[in-house]
Amino acid sequence: MTIRMFDWIYLTHKTPLWQDETTAEGQLRLQELASKVREALDELTAMERVTIERHDFEGLSLVNIAAELEWPCSRVQVVRRRALRRLHKVLAPFVQERFGISLPSTDCPICASPFRRDAERIIAARTRDEPYSQVISQLRHDFKIAIISPKTIIGHIKYHC
Ligand SMILES: [Zn+2]
Repeated sequence: MTIRMFDWIYLTHKTPLWQDETTAEGQLRLQELASKVREALDELTAMERVTIERHDFEGLSLVNIAAELEWPCSRVQVVRRRALRRLHKVLAPFVQERFGISLPSTDCPICASPFRRDAERIIAARTRDEPYSQVISQLRHDFKIAIISPKTIIGHIKYHC
C-alpha cells in the first residue's frame, strides 16, 4: 500500500494529510484507511476499478490506459471521475470521523465553488429568524452559486464543513 493510493484525497483537500501520521496511532489509522479504501474499491464496477488502480495507484497516464483498453481518452476520464465520486462518497464519513477532516463534496455547489469560504461566512452570519431564501439569493447574486433548496446549505454545514 503506497501513499499514492490516497492521492485522490490529497488532491481534493489540497494539503498533505498523511505526513504527520508517524505515530503508532497514526499508522494504525492509515492502515484502517487502506482497508476501507479496498472495501470501497470492491463497490466499483470492474472498469471503474481499473481506471483508479492503473492511474491513481500505479501512476499510468490516462492516455496510456485509454490505449490499453482501446477506449477514447474521454471515456477513461468519465469513468474515472465517476469512480472517484463513488469512492469519495463511501470514504468521506470514515475520513471525517477518524482523521477529523471534512472532504468537500463534488456534488455540492457550495463545496464546488471557488468562493466556498466567503459563502460559508455568509451562511454563518445568518440569524435564526432570517429565512434561508435570503441567504440563497445572496449566494446566487454574489458568487453565482445556484442552490435550489435550503437542504443543500444544511447538508453542507453538517457534512462538509
Ligand atoms: Zn458542501
